[in-house]
Amino acid sequence: MSDYTSRVLEEVRAKNANEPEFLQAVQEVISTIAPVLDAKKKYEDNCILERITEPERTIIFRVPWTDDKGNIRVNRGFRVEFNSAIGPYKGGLRFHPSVNLGILKFLGFEQIFKNSLTTLAMGGGKGGSDFDPKGKSDAEVMRFCQSFMTELQRHIGADTDVPAGDIGVGGREIGYLFGQYKRLRNEFTGVLTGKALNWGGSLIRPEATGYGTAYFAQNMLATRNDELAGKVCVVSGSGNVAQYLVEKLNQLGAKVVTMSDSNGYIYDPEGITPDKLAWVLELKNVRRGRIKEYADQFKSAQYFEGQRPWNVPCDCAFPCATQNEINGAEAATLIKNGCKLVAEGANMPTDLEGINNYLAAKILYGPAKAANAGGVATSGLEMAQNSQRLNWTSEEVDAKLFGIMKNIHDNAYNHAHEYATGSDAAFTNYVAGANIAGFVKVADSMIDQGLV
Ligand code: NDP
Repeated sequence: MSDYTSRVLEEVRAKNANEPEFLQAVQEVISTIAPVLDAKKKYEDNCILERITEPERTIIFRVPWTDDKGNIRVNRGFRVEFNSAIGPYKGGLRFHPSVNLGILKFLGFEQIFKNSLTTLAMGGGKGGSDFDPKGKSDAEVMRFCQSFMTELQRHIGADTDVPAGDIGVGGREIGYLFGQYKRLRNEFTGVLTGKALNWGGSLIRPEATGYGTAYFAQNMLATRNDELAGKVCVVSGSGNVAQYLVEKLNQLGAKVVTMSDSNGYIYDPEGITPDKLAWVLELKNVRRGRIKEYADQFKSAQYFEGQRPWNVPCDCAFPCATQNEINGAEAATLIKNGCKLVAEGANMPTDLEGINNYLAAKILYGPAKAANAGGVATSGLEMAQNSQRLNWTSEEVDAKLFGIMKNIHDNAYNHAHEYATGSDAAFTNYVAGANIAGFVKVADSMIDQGLV
């Protein structure tokens, strides 16, 4: 690392000492863009690293609501408006008990570069609450969402900040949030994405993150004249991203043998076929049940309580649950068991040691900000349709998503090779490629717009 990157990293560490996930994300980005910073002094002259690691605005607010028994409950709400150099802030809302400022800053920071990679005009942001929708009635979720939006509506808008879903925020929550925004502001605008089809949503948005991750994996394999057909795949999570990734992997001829939730994972050596996946969708989205029930339903499967699926031998692994769900040892186990590709549906699911293990083994590794960018890209397409007051067909949206994922792949690939030297030159380091490609566009825009 250069003096400049080391100094900024030290300053960021000192200022944000209680935010380990944010520091992890900053370290991963800064350490890989060093060649560009060395080659182009303008970034240091304009203090771009110092500025890009500080959110433009952070909003923290009280969210009071009443439960079904009439008790008053209080949660904390957040919106981190991180960077608007290339467009309105854009990024999801997460409702999960683990949510805190550091986690949302890591997600918002990652979002800046991810959104830049999509080639669409979207800045970076993220928000959410420590509210846990699990075990709450629909009426409780609605009252919470209405209270949350009563404050958030002051800060967002179709040309200012356009939130979407994330963990714990799906179609139901987006509906309640949108309804309250419309009521308070008396305007029907594309202020949220992930809306239902009847009232401004886009076809393929629910599928987009999972489908896009599969498309990214396809593109990586193509560089080695290989394909997904016939590959044994391990997937974690059983939420939105995991569900549609499994659907697309099945369509492309792969065999998916695991899914999980925060209690454990199921292993089905015969594969989670389309009919079994349909059962999982009903379990998770309608009955809101636990993945362990899969092993009661399908005798070919086994359930492993309290464990993650990374010791199951596979050709390809797709972490789609949460951050830091693969550590260094688990990454080493995947590689030892023959895994040749990791594509990240979740955000920052692999820790820094795990990433170093993938890179040392020179496997195909698609980092989250590239591999899962299909979700936010399709949110960008939803915004475009809302502005035009038009709905595109699912074929049109899927074709655009496919094209965007190929562009993201090629952009990361080309930037990786532009800056790789020596023995690394033949290997595609998608982490470096994605970070450099995402950074350059935002940093140049910041310079153009002066010191703001
Ligand atoms: P969902 O809430 O639909 O599903 C999350 C899944 O991950 C559930 O199976 C959940 O299990 C599991 N999970 C959540 N937290 C943990 C944990 N701490 N440990 C183990 N398992 C956990 O969320 P999404 O599918 O939308 O999001 C999954 C990941 O993908 C996140 O990292 C998100 O940031 C990322 N992502 C999502 C996008 C989207 O469009 N939705 C876009 C880009 C990235 P349980 O039910 O037990 O909580």
